Amino acid sequence: MTTSAPITQDVHTIPRKLPEGGKINIVGLTRDALRTALIEHGTPEKQAKMRMGQIWQWIYQWGKRDFADMTNLSKAYRAQLDEVFSIEIPEVVSRQVSTDGTRKYLVRIAGGHEVEVVYIPEEDRGTLCVSSQVGCTLTCSFCHTGTQKLVRNLTAGEIIGQLMMARDDLEEWPEPGETNKGEARLLSNVVLMGMGEPLYNFENVRDAMKIAMDPEGISLSRRRITLSTSGVVPEIARTADEIGCLIAISYHATTDDVRDVLVPINKRWNIAELLKSLAAYPNLSNSERITFEYVMLDGVNDSDEDAHRLIQQIKSHNIPAKINLIPFNEWPGAPYKRSSNNRIRAFANIIHDAGFASPVRRPRGEDIMAACGQLKSATERARKSRKQIEAEAGMGK
Ligand code: SAH
Ligand code: SF4
Repeated sequence: MTTSAPITQDVHTIPRKLPEGGKINIVGLTRDALRTALIEHGTPEKQAKMRMGQIWQWIYQWGKRDFADMTNLSKAYRAQLDEVFSIEIPEVVSRQVSTDGTRKYLVRIAGGHEVEVVYIPEEDRGTLCVSSQVGCTLTCSFCHTGTQKLVRNLTAGEIIGQLMMARDDLEEWPEPGETNKGEARLLSNVVLMGMGEPLYNFENVRDAMKIAMDPEGISLSRRRITLSTSGVVPEIARTADEIGCLIAISYHATTDDVRDVLVPINKRWNIAELLKSLAAYPNLSNSERITFEYVMLDGVNDSDEDAHRLIQQIKSHNIPAKINLIPFNEWPGAPYKRSSNNRIRAFANIIHDAGFASPVRRPRGEDIMAACGQLKSATERARKSRKQIEAEAGMGK
């Protein structure tokens, strides 16, 4: 802990010129990048590591956004920091609360783009569903986000900023000098399951999650972060090596023919290649199983044969897995229907009887369009028609 560091009175000579393009936003910089930026803007090199640690803690442990609050730095130094740096997170445009307690935030990022963030309270945890891109380059035919063209990748600051925004709203920052380690947290888990494909924005997602896990900050355990991918095979091993979080796979189909349509990235890396990369995922154990996400689409992927194939594919590769069945969440113009409850139950039973956990994900926040796959920024409504989607997916449905 560096909180007890003495108040420093030495005045540094900081070049008065503003960085090009305005102030440098500290949020999202790695520890190294922040240290370097401090040095570049006048903090003496021998002090930079300590100053970085102090500033880091104010921002990520205690949620401060104003240098003036950083009372273990001298007034003069705080003023100098304020000339060059800013501490900014995305702005909340709207906040909706579902009848089930789910909160959906629309946040605005630089350039006027908007993304959605969803907070899901449960009895023993609170999960924040974070977005990694505005839109998505992929076009999974059952996903609302997939109908929105990619506008851009989010920066690391915009990704970690979503957690900071939620902690603001939940009023969950500890008082300066305190930590909330060990306490039951309102925001205890993070899933990268909002808008976008996180593995197509790897570096920014990684840097943001490193900040989320940093022990002198938000300090989430890596086991409480789950990254969901449609199957960007070359980046899967990197996720284990460079982030170390848990992984969920948008599997959704057991034959390449069907998966090519539902999750078109399958044409690039098919089921066999995907399974091979999962079998090789480091840290695999029963406590760190891979989640197979499986959306239940009426008459498309929900037969008994599909359930048996799914089990066989996972077993033959020895992948410690849990299978998460997701009842399809409908959205305007969606070309699919949700499987019936009976069908979902029958499918779940087959999986359960084969020895796998098979929780059925209860849709949350449906009344405010906050459920999986319903996210799409209201301002980017260049919505494709059902016809267009079907034509692109090659479905005669
Ligand atoms: N791009 C990543 C993460 C975002 S999607 C991915 O594809 O994994 C998060 C999860 O919601 C994925 O499993 C996705 O397949 C699922 N999903 C998308 N649209 C859905 C819908 N309409 N109903 C239910 N689940 C959906
Ligand atoms: Fe993109 Fe994931 Fe939606 Fe597919 S399911 S379009 S990868 S956000």
